[in-house]
Amino acid sequence: MASYDFSAPRLFLDAPLGPDGRVGLDREQANYLLNVLRLKAGEAVLVFNGRDGEWRAALAVEGRKSAELRIVEQTRPQTPPSDLLYLFAPLKHARLDYMVQKAVEMGAGALKPVFTARTQASRVNRERMRANAVEAAEQCGILAVPAILPEEPFAAAVAALEAGRLVVFCDEDAPIANPIRALEGAGNDASKLAVIVGPEGGFTDEERALVLGHPNCLRVSLGDRVLRADTAAVAALALVQAVLGDWR
Ligand code: SAH
Repeated sequence: MASYDFSAPRLFLDAPLGPDGRVGLDREQANYLLNVLRLKAGEAVLVFNGRDGEWRAALAVEGRKSAELRIVEQTRPQTPPSDLLYLFAPLKHARLDYMVQKAVEMGAGALKPVFTARTQASRVNRERMRANAVEAAEQCGILAVPAILPEEPFAAAVAALEAGRLVVFCDEDAPIANPIRALEGAGNDASKLAVIVGPEGGFTDEERALVLGHPNCLRVSLGDRVLRADTAAVAALALVQAVLGDWR
């Protein structure tokens, strides 16, 4: 993997980052570095904002509760977001947190919650999803934090998928067939991808017909066991990254 310093803590900052910059920390960030991680003045923190790459900064402490970061040097240039769109029926609470974190770790470029007929969650908290995405990016050295797109009814989200995008449709009712062969058959030039994973209750026949109407849809089976939606997400994203994505 790319050279990456695991020893220093990483912090997402929503501020411009550049040579000789200084970034003030809010209360929560200062508390995290000073009291949770117990960093001392001068210690290194890696910072990123999703736009300007990753920078090494030194902690400057002002009293017990306040601190700023002084930028020292760039450690990695910004990486572009992947064009891997992950469409999913939102789950409830902790399992949604997990699903968002794992989708980010697996390299999704944007996450879009979609409401299907059998989706159990009735609302989504995009702020919370965003916080989970940032946390996963901080922990895993990801510099391009995936966008959390606005939620939409399933039919509208499917209708908005461009014809040129390869849509990997994880369908629990698909006939069992080797998914690696299926993805290989889609060709190596699939740079615009979407992965669709349904709700705990599965898809309705109408929803299936909508997705299958997309001109570039690949219906895949993940075997004859029904996976929980969060497991299916990780399995499907692993297959896609290995055959068509950035694991190659
Ligand atoms: N309740 C449904 C299964 C839903 S599982 C049933 O019992 O049939 C939630 C989602 O995970 C599915 O909509 C699908 O997108 C994905 N999934 C789970 N198991 C799968 C499998 N074996 N093959 C393909 N997709 C699967």
